[in-house]
Amino acid sequence: GVMVATNAAALSEVWGDIQRAAGAMERILELLHTQSGLIVPRQPQPIPDIIAKGVEFRDVRFNYPSRPQQHALRNFSLDVSPGETVALVGPSGAGKSTVFQLLLRFYTPQQGRITVAGVDIVAADPGQLRERIAIVPQETAIFAASVRENIRFGRLDAGDEDIVKAAEAAAADQFIRALPEGYDTFLGERGLRLSAGQRQRIAIARAILKNAPILLLDEATSSLDAESEKLVQTALQHLMEKRTTLVIAHRLATVLQADRIVVINHGQIVASGTHRELLKQQGLYARLAALQFGNLDI
Ligand code: ADP
Ligand code: MG
Repeated sequence: GVMVATNAAALSEVWGDIQRAAGAMERILELLHTQSGLIVPRQPQPIPDIIAKGVEFRDVRFNYPSRPQQHALRNFSLDVSPGETVALVGPSGAGKSTVFQLLLRFYTPQQGRITVAGVDIVAADPGQLRERIAIVPQETAIFAASVRENIRFGRLDAGDEDIVKAAEAAAADQFIRALPEGYDTFLGERGLRLSAGQRQRIAIARAILKNAPILLLDEATSSLDAESEKLVQTALQHLMEKRTTLVIAHRLATVLQADRIVVINHGQIVASGTHRELLKQQGLYARLAALQFGNLDI
């Protein structure tokens, strides 16, 4: 009778509180997402996990929230076919890294859309989107752990054999085996320090292990010795094979290998073509190439 009704009333009151609290929590989360520019869809559209898929930017306009007056990208349209390698070239501040930031959905464009395998990334689950993309950053983060665990970071459930295979494809296996304790050698601040070329090949091994269909490569600006340069280039060839690749290019070898070079200036695409085609135009690309790559007589 009465007890039960009272309890039920009390319960429903508490339940109401919980729901209001949950509602508030949802709003807080929404706010947090909004402030980071990220609204996660309730029923995300799945992005197919196929090895070759394309990326498309359609009329994208974007400014960073902290700089509403300045367009980091505008009228930005770029179609990257499945398996294609597109090199992004442009002066510092042109918007190259912003292209990566948007594709990874760290920010959302104010206008236009970005699709991956035909799926508007705004409609996708950002976590799944990032599973489909491997990144090789300018500076490789090395953790205080063994070489093996440092590579496994690319895919946490990878077996030891997969790690060796990835290292081989990344032209890293040889130097790793020559280390005092091979794959068990401890890296990081208190461990062994690797050279820049070796660190890059660890990053490439991670990306090979991740085996994502899309690859974002932000080439290191620091120059490597000729031997490392050759090995890194070999490793990159393996990595880019069959993948849809966007590379912020700082090396001549990379632009020569790209299917297409896209020149960005002040947030816009100002030219595109092959290295030879762009040199002939004697525009921004020719000037940048002369500065960055030096001898162009090739
Ligand atoms: P690039 O990679 O070609 O050097 P970016 O994409 O990093 O150029 O930058 C494009 C423009 O956006 C620049 O004017 C830069 O100052 C600005 N920018 C980059 N990141 C941010 C940020 N987090 N907040 C505000 N402005 C930024
Ligand atoms: Mg940049």
